[in-house]
Amino acid sequence: MRTPVPDYLDEVLDALRGDSTGAPANYIPELATADPDKFALSITTTSGSTYAAGDVDTEFSIQSISKPFAYAAALIDRGFERVLESVGVEPSGEAFNELSLEGDTHRPKNPMINAGAIATHSLLGAAGAGQDDRVERARRLFSRLAGRELRVDEQVCASELGTAHRNLAIAHMLHNYGILEGDVHSIVEGYTRQCSILVSVRDLSMMAATLATGGVQPVTGDRVLESDVARQVMAVMAGAGMYDAAGDWLTRVGIPAKSGVAGGMVGVLPDQVGIGAFSPRLDAHGNSQRGRRAFERLSQDMGMHLFSSDRGRLDSVGSDTQDGTTTFRLQGNVQFTAAAELLDLMAEVEDGNVVLDVSRVHSFSDVGRRMTLEGLRRLRLDGRGIALRDPSTTLPDPDLGDGTYPEESATGGLQV
Ligand code: GLU
Repeated sequence: MRTPVPDYLDEVLDALRGDSTGAPANYIPELATADPDKFALSITTTSGSTYAAGDVDTEFSIQSISKPFAYAAALIDRGFERVLESVGVEPSGEAFNELSLEGDTHRPKNPMINAGAIATHSLLGAAGAGQDDRVERARRLFSRLAGRELRVDEQVCASELGTAHRNLAIAHMLHNYGILEGDVHSIVEGYTRQCSILVSVRDLSMMAATLATGGVQPVTGDRVLESDVARQVMAVMAGAGMYDAAGDWLTRVGIPAKSGVAGGMVGVLPDQVGIGAFSPRLDAHGNSQRGRRAFERLSQDMGMHLFSSDRGRLDSVGSDTQDGTTTFRLQGNVQFTAAAELLDLMAEVEDGNVVLDVSRVHSFSDVGRRMTLEGLRRLRLDGRGIALRDPSTTLPDPDLGDGTYPEESATGGLQV
């Protein structure tokens, strides 16, 4: 059997191919020469399968889609506190190239508008890193996220630098307020080079899927980002990724996303998928016209909305009592809800021994684990014998919080 997912993606592309409204960006001369009919879509799941359709191998410059990923690099290199000193996290409600800063702090409002992205670029690498180091830092991180070596398109970069007056004006303004340190021209040049890194839709869906897993590249298994960095990037994308259309996008489409003026778009649904789209004709907001519509279709057809409540429970809990021993069975990815239910059920046990069977659990969230072990500890304090059935060691080192462990004696022969 052939999986129908690529056929579905082909169908989405075919349905939207007729839309020739909008035009490629022309403020960067090199982008105006793009073939406007190119169209591609790619989805990568958190388990590492990629489904792609259309012009999947066409490369284009990443442009503003570099912003969330460069933000991740700055958070890693300088830490949250230092980055937040220079760049805020508030949606700006303004166009991407607005010359605006927060009134009191003079920080750019977020890393997704150019002012914030230029400040973010200046924070790449170690303090005082030169332009080559900053660009290489971005290129290397983007490559690890994509799972292949990416490169800078020097022609696109040179073309943009020839007309980068507005970004230079923004950078001078940032310098004036002490947000940018160092050579303004070199920072704008480095930022422009970062925007000129070439990607395909597959690269974009892979990079986004790495955010969706909380930082582990789903194909290479490389932990590229810590989960708090991935979460920060996705949260900022949700609030500010779509510039002045952020609220409309989040409510209607519900996929935290970022677009670039070359026609690329990236989207991420935590724990589910990363999405990449490419079509060079842009709408009035500077977003890919057909790319935006493809995201709208995916959200509707595939139930891909961050706040859709049709995903169901990720976990479940049950119990039964036989011969005076109560067995609790957990299943799935045990998070707060299942753990809370488990504790409610445990609270009803008045006598006999207890077995916790986690053989059908595939993972515990941190809070799920702590609550489960606390339940066992309290049952032990009540005088119950405790055993753990955990053949795949999903609950390693089940220290009950007081240095003690479940006893084998409760049921005999069980792993403890
Ligand atoms: N390099 C572009 C600029 O700074 C990126 C803009 C975009 O993709 O939205 O103008």
